[in-house]
This record gives sequence, C-alpha cells and structure tokens, in this order.
Amino acid sequence: MDVIRSIADIRTRVSGWRATGELVSLVPTMGALHDGHISLVRLAAERTERTVVSIFVNPTQFAPHEDFTTYPRDEARDLAMLEAAGVDAVFAPNVGEMYGETHRTVVEVQGLGKILEGAFRPDFFAGVATVCAKLLIQVGPDVAVFGDKDYQQLCVIRAMARDLNLPVEILGGETIRESDGLAMSSRNSYLTNAERTLAPKLHDEIVGVARRVASGGAIEEACADASQELDQAGFSSIDYIAVSDAETLESPAAGRPMRVLAAAWLGKTRLIDNVAV
Ligand code: AMP
Repeated sequence: MDVIRSIADIRTRVSGWRATGELVSLVPTMGALHDGHISLVRLAAERTERTVVSIFVNPTQFAPHEDFTTYPRDEARDLAMLEAAGVDAVFAPNVGEMYGETHRTVVEVQGLGKILEGAFRPDFFAGVATVCAKLLIQVGPDVAVFGDKDYQQLCVIRAMARDLNLPVEILGGETIRESDGLAMSSRNSYLTNAERTLAPKLHDEIVGVARRVASGGAIEEACADASQELDQAGFSSIDYIAVSDAETLESPAAGRPMRVLAAAWLGKTRLIDNVAV
C-alpha cells in the first residue's frame, strides 16, 4: 500500500491505473478510522479494481470554537487498518499541500447546505463541499463512496458532483453501528463512560419516530416526544429532530420517501444520526 502526500503523485498513480483500464474508487475520510470507514472501503473494492482512501482533517469545515485541534488523529493505526483491508493507496496530504498559501475558492451548495446541520454549523457544508470537490479533482476516481451516517453530507456531495459535472459516481454506504445501536463515529471517543451508556438512546428515539410516522402518526408530535425523551434522559441539548424528504431534505410530502435526522449533545460531544422512515 502506497502512502502518497502530494497531489502530483496521486495523479500519476491513478492515471497509471486508468491507462491500463482499471477503475478506481476513492473513500474520503478524516482518519481515526473504525469499522464504518472500513465498510465503505469494502463497498469500493467490490466496484473497482483499485481503491484509494484519503485521510485529511479538513480545517475549513470546523468553526473556530469546534474541535479541529483536538480531533482524534492516529495515522499509524489508520494505515495498519487500511493495509489489512487491501487498500492500494492512501492519499494523506498536509494542510499546505491541500490549500497552499492563497486559497480563495469556496464551493457552496445553496439551500441544501444551509438547513438542518447547516443551520447549526453555517460554514460546515461549504468546507465539506470545497474539500470533496478538490479531492475528487485531485484523485480523479470513477467512484467515490460516502456514508449514510452523514446523510445530509451525502446529499450535498451528490448535488455538488452533479452541478459541477464531475465525472464520478457517488455511492452511499449504510451506517455501521455498535451492538447497542450507536452509530460508529470517530467522535464517540470523546464520550465519558456515563455518556457512552446514554448515547444509543439517540438511535432508539429516531427509530421510534420513524415507526410512528410510518404508521401514520403526526410528525411534529413524534419529534417533540423524542426530543423530550432525550432531554429527560440527560442529553444536554437537542439541536434538531426532523423528518424530511429523503432526497431534497425539504418538508416531507405525501407518498415520497422520508428520513428522520437528528443532532444532539451529550456533554461536550455532538452526536448525529439518521434512519429511513
Ligand atoms: P469522517 O472520517 O467522519 O469524515 O467520515 C468519512 C466517511 O465515513 C464519511 O463518508 C462518513 O459518512 C463515513 N462514516 C462515518 N461513520 C460511519 C459509520 N458508522 N458507518 C458508515 N459510514 C460512516
């Protein structure tokens, strides 16, 4: 497995593969890998001969008060996991390689990037869309794989790739969970033991909302009850529990697929999760 730090080198490697007719996939990550990330690698390997994983903790998607400096980083462990998973190359540029000294361009997906998560993290999706556009242009994969875990992010990336005519297929992979239902996340390592015990309740509650709505229950009431349950259980604050159109993430309409999406705080840790109705 090659570990590649420069844009020029990853371009050379990928174009060499493509010149011999091999298809290439990219799985973008911020490292601190877990089985959720590895499941995306497996999905990628089923689709293409070659698999590239990027590891880049992207400063532009963190607000100044967020956890950029404390975000978990363990490259040696990540590389061992990716080698064991059969990855061909890891692209791990530093911030200077990615953004240079004079980076000025921002990719913003209007509307979709400003609701739900975007309402609470106003610059987050511009940071995500910009870095993902750059990674897709730098690596030039045939397929790029993202997790359903970050459902709105997947919708934003799909819209961005379509709008910018990027010649790549965007693939979504299902959310991998701990045995008690908690969605795997690099940020779960922030949870204290007491918080970790409470954390799966977020998934339990959104599954409850999905069931109620699927059997004809009122959306607002189901979301309000779930929010109250989390509050009473000890979640410190609930940013949102919403039922949205599964494609546009706008208000749901009768007869269309729906998704329950939620974000809530346990102490200093912000958890997000989502399920289909
Ligand atoms: P991150 O390193 O957290 O930025 O995530 C990198 C990719 O892994 C994103 O496409 C995430 O949606 C995906 N991902 C994160 N957690 C999970 C999970 N529990 N199951 C499946 N995919 C995940």
